[in-house]
Amino acid sequence: MLEVQGIHAAYGQVQALYGVSFTARAGEILCLLGRNGAGKTTTLKSIMGLLPLSEGQVSLDGDQISSLPPHEVPRRGIGYIPQGRRLFPELSVAENIEMGLMTRGEGKATREWVLDLFPRLRERLGQAAGTLSGGEQQMLATARALCLRPKVLLLDEPTEGLQPSMIKLIRDVVLKMKAEGIAIVLVEQRVDTVMTIADRVVFIENGRDVDRMDAAELKADPGKLRTYLGV
Ligand code: ATP
Repeated sequence: MLEVQGIHAAYGQVQALYGVSFTARAGEILCLLGRNGAGKTTTLKSIMGLLPLSEGQVSLDGDQISSLPPHEVPRRGIGYIPQGRRLFPELSVAENIEMGLMTRGEGKATREWVLDLFPRLRERLGQAAGTLSGGEQQMLATARALCLRPKVLLLDEPTEGLQPSMIKLIRDVVLKMKAEGIAIVLVEQRVDTVMTIADRVVFIENGRDVDRMDAAELKADPGKLRTYLGV
């Protein structure tokens, strides 16, 4: 279980988070929703140790991870798929996957597991990552994060810029990860996607969590979407 407790973070002098708290449990999809610039990406970066916390803490299964150096955080089992995917474009699909496996010393069984999840990557093992389509790059970024055999997966707008067929595929993989017992924290702008897969929703506004509810409650009272997102 990932616990984020009252985190505050800044980019230099610019304060971006003023207290964000939530819990992501195994086998559950938690969506962070909020307007542009609300602090969703910053929240994920802060969990990964990429921004120093001035207050608050993050813990995984009871162990504090917020004081770890950034390269240690994935080793504890938190996979992060940043917005824009950040692959090694010159390296092949196989080499990008290899980089993922190395982080936690995973081997052939994990490699086969991720390639079975994404058969399309198996067909393109020798291709340079930078020449993959947008959807294939998202698959590779997800596959690389799964090479950690993560307990927690943080996904930042995974469907951005993708066609409907690809969005469906990514959504199916997220649901499969949930079924595997991974705790998933998803930042997603597509409200329709959120409504179909989220278990719980946390609204972020001006760097704070301002509301939270079960997805079922939100479906019953979609007025909250207007309040917090203007849709
Ligand atoms: P979006 O939906 O547009 O991606 P977001 O909710 O993910 O938005 P963040 O990217 O977390 O928002 O941004 C939160 C605030 O921090 C914004 O005011 C943004 O301008 C600021 N910010 C983000 N990155 C930096 C940076 N590198 N330097 C300074 N300020 C930043």
